[in-house]
Amino acid sequence: MRLILLGAPGAGKGTQAEILSKTLNIPTISTGNILRAAMREGTPVGLEAKTYVDAGKLVPDEVIINIVKDRLSKDDCRPGYILDGFPRTIPQAEAMEKLGIEVDCALSIEIEDDVIIKRMSGRRTCKNCSQTFHIVSNPPKIDGICDFCGGELSVRKDDAPETVKARLEIYHKETEPLKAFYEKRNRLVSVENQPSVEATTAEIRKVLGV
Ligand code: AMP
Repeated sequence: MRLILLGAPGAGKGTQAEILSKTLNIPTISTGNILRAAMREGTPVGLEAKTYVDAGKLVPDEVIINIVKDRLSKDDCRPGYILDGFPRTIPQAEAMEKLGIEVDCALSIEIEDDVIIKRMSGRRTCKNCSQTFHIVSNPPKIDGICDFCGGELSVRKDDAPETVKARLEIYHKETEPLKAFYEKRNRLVSVENQPSVEATTAEIRKVLGV
């Protein structure tokens, strides 16, 4: 299964990708997580990406395409993969096709902007491993501490309300047209966001037949 997750920032792509990754036993490739790790480590890519990511803007296509190309060439991607946060623009999707990177399904999680704005204010991200939690719908076992690695949880700079609004605008302008792109190729399926993570997972499993 080679799957793309589409949806606005805060739609729950990362959370659902992690669940599906375990169910299907294939890796999730999250370009946001790769960039945040590069920023933490202060690599040249991380330094280049930082100003864009912190402002909620998209990192240039060439940078992202190289990251994804490199990651997908690893052995663990042979049985399949889940792309979370890529492609995010039509040129990225076209570049993927040119590189021969195949997609079986582009799954779009549909959600209203105002639900996202409320949801993002409660999101907490581990400074160490990038795992995300939500203070209401998916709280960590110990307040402020990552369940998985014990790292400190914080509000991502780009989850601040003004930045979230900017990211949503970019999503509608640059990323949403990908739905039509994959619909034309008969690859698009959609699910409505549900009130709980589990209910959304159930919808996704139904449409994917897994
Ligand atoms: P995410 O964790 O997917 O919300 O990504 C966080 C940030 O990383 C985005 O707001 C962008 O600045 C950057 N980013 C992640 N994926 C991409 C992509 N495919 N193209 C451009 N920028 C990206």
